[in-house]
Amino acid sequence: MLGKMALQEIEEKKDAVIELAKKIWENPEIGYQEVKACKWTAELLEKEGFEVETGYTGVPTALRAVWGSGKPVIGLLGEYDALANMSQTVSTEKEPIVEGGPGHGCGHSLMAPSCVAAAIGLKKEMTERNLKGTIVVYGCPAEEVLTGKVFMARGGAFQDLDIAFSWHPMTTNDLSMGTAAGLNSAKFHFKGVTSHAGGDPYNGRSALDAAELMNVGANFLREHVPDITRIHYAFTEVHGAPNVVPDRASVWYFVRALSRESVVETYNRLIKVAKGAAMMTETEVEVEFMGGCYETMQNKVLLDTVQETISELPLPQWTEEEIKFAEALNKCSANYEKLLNAGVVEKGVQLDNSVHPVTCVNMFGSNDVSEVQHIVPTVNFMTASANLGAAYHSWQITACAGHSIGMKGMLHGANIMAVSALKAIENPKIIENAKKEFNKAMNGRKYECPIPDEIPVP
Ligand SMILES: [Zn+2]
Repeated sequence: MLGKMALQEIEEKKDAVIELAKKIWENPEIGYQEVKACKWTAELLEKEGFEVETGYTGVPTALRAVWGSGKPVIGLLGEYDALANMSQTVSTEKEPIVEGGPGHGCGHSLMAPSCVAAAIGLKKEMTERNLKGTIVVYGCPAEEVLTGKVFMARGGAFQDLDIAFSWHPMTTNDLSMGTAAGLNSAKFHFKGVTSHAGGDPYNGRSALDAAELMNVGANFLREHVPDITRIHYAFTEVHGAPNVVPDRASVWYFVRALSRESVVETYNRLIKVAKGAAMMTETEVEVEFMGGCYETMQNKVLLDTVQETISELPLPQWTEEEIKFAEALNKCSANYEKLLNAGVVEKGVQLDNSVHPVTCVNMFGSNDVSEVQHIVPTVNFMTASANLGAAYHSWQITACAGHSIGMKGMLHGANIMAVSALKAIENPKIIENAKKEFNKAMNGRKYECPIPDEIPVP
C-alpha cells in the first residue's frame, strides 16, 4: 500500500508530535506573538533532520523548514496562533484557565504539529524508496487576523512550490469546493474639535458624529454592492463623555466579498463614504489600512486526490470516553440541535465518523490560505477533530484541541497529507493537471499582494 512506511513512521513518532501540540495548546499565543510555538516547531523539525529558517520573509514568528532535493516541491502549511478570550480547560463545561485569556478556539495548536508529522512520514518513505522531491513545511503565524500568509507572500514565500496542502481541524470530514471571502480591513480615525456640549456646542466638531454618519452611509451602500459582499464594523475608540463634544472617534471596518475585485471596488466606495462624513461634519478622517487577503480558490485536482485518500485510509476510532466527552459538549453547543433538525447529523452521533461527498458551499468567513491558493495550486481540507455541534471559534473547540479527540484528528490530517503528497510525487499527472486547472482559474492574472510594501510587518 502506498504510504505504508510514512504512516508507520507517523505512528512511531506520534508522541513527540502530540507533545508539541500540547505545549502549543498550553501556551496560547495570539497572532505575531507565537514565539514559543515557532521555536518548539522549529526544534522538532531540526531534530528530524529538516533545515529550518525562522523569521522567514521578515515575519518574526514565521518559519520554513526544508528536506529533500529536486522536483516536485511540496508545501505543507501549518498555523499556530490562538484567539483572544478562548481560554478553556479540557472539560465539558465553560471554564477558562485564565479569565479573558487567549486559547485555541480554532484548533490551530494542532495544525503546525500535523504538518511536522506529515513531513516526518514523507521523509521516511521518500528516503527508503529513493523518491525525488522536496518537502517544505511552513509555520504560518497570525491566520486569525488574516495577514500572516499575506506578509509571507509579500516577502516572496510559496513561489518555489509546485503544490501545497493545508489541513484544518473541524467538526466534520469536510471537503468543499466552496469559496471563502476575500477581505480588506481598515480603521477610520476621525478627528474633530472638542467643546462643552451644553455651553458652546456650536464651537465643537464631533468626530463621533462623523463616525456615525459614516456608518449610516455604509449601511445605505449595502443595497448597491454585489450580493457576494459583506460589510461589518465596530467602534474601537470614542473620546469623551456626554457633556463633551468628542474630538476623536475610530471605527474598524471589514469589507468582504467572494472575489478580490469586489472587495477592492466596495472598499474604494467606502473610503468615499468616510470622506463624505468628514466633509459633512467638518472633521478630518485618516484611513489606516490593516491588511487584506484574496478569496479562497480550491484546486479540484488536489481536492479529489485528498478525497480519494480519505476514503482509503482508516478514520479515527473514537473511544467510549471521547464519545461521552463530545456528547456533553454537544449538549451545550447551539449548532448541534440545528444539525439534528436539519437531518445533517444522525441522532446519537456525537463525533463525525464518515466520509462525505465533496460539497460546494460558499462561506463569508475568510482564510488567508487564499494567498497561497493564488500563487500555486493548493488544497485546504478539514477533518473531524471536535464535537459535531461545536461552532468555529468557541470554547468547545479549545476543549477538544487539548483532548485526545483533537490529537486523533491531527494525526488523521497528517496521514492524509502524507499519502496525498506521495500520490503527487509518484504520479506527475496530478501536479500537471493541478497546474493546468490553476492557470485556467488565474486566467492570465498574477498574484498581487493586497498589503502594500510601505505597511510594516506587525
Ligand atoms: Zn482556523
